[in-house]
Amino acid sequence: MEDSIKFQGLRRHLVKLLKSKGIDSKSVLKAVGNVPRQHFMDPSLINFSYEDQAYPIISNQTISQPFTVAFQTQLLEIEIGNKILEIGTGSGYQTAILLELSPDIYTIERQQKLFKKTQNLFKCLGLRPKKTIFGDGILGLPNDAPFDRILVTAGASKVPKTLLSQLKMGGKLVVPVGLKDQEMLRFTRVAEKEFNKESFGKFRFVPLLNNKN
Ligand code: SAH
Repeated sequence: MEDSIKFQGLRRHLVKLLKSKGIDSKSVLKAVGNVPRQHFMDPSLINFSYEDQAYPIISNQTISQPFTVAFQTQLLEIEIGNKILEIGTGSGYQTAILLELSPDIYTIERQQKLFKKTQNLFKCLGLRPKKTIFGDGILGLPNDAPFDRILVTAGASKVPKTLLSQLKMGGKLVVPVGLKDQEMLRFTRVAEKEFNKESFGKFRFVPLLNNKN
């Protein structure tokens, strides 16, 4: 897949914009600068690839806003060798950003059509997450747990306890929680049953679906 001079220029502008909006992690900015977002967009919206906006993709879902992707990735504070679980593969854009920072990525998507499409896209782009899973991310991945980092890219109505239990000691869960809009939360596991909770402002995500919907 191609990456034109025009898109490369637009991407440099996007990186500058994210910096001006407060993203200061060098590795996150570098990752955004390296990943061609146009590959993950709906083809009809390709000209908007470098707007700092969320856009519709198939299965009634969205590709997240670049600022949100960068913000959540920065909150994860990824370290070399981290084993990372992403809930909500969606377009695969966030997965591609995570792959810039660690090769050990597991990702789960609940919409089958979207799951298949994105799995194909990863193949076309030569991107190799450790596992791409079709299923309910709220359950996490008990057989692959524990994880150093867990990222939820859809709005949870309440804190997903199962995911907390799948964190390593010192591990971090970044999850937007709320009904109409969501508070960005980061939990750090400080002891077997003790988590340090921090809050980072309001965002708006598509809902994290549970088993009933
Ligand atoms: N990271 C994605 C964001 C997509 S929006 C991107 O950058 O494009 C959130 C995604 O979470 C949607 O694709 C939605 O289908 C998925 N999702 C919702 N509930 C889920 C669940 N319980 N388990 C796994 N994925 C879920």
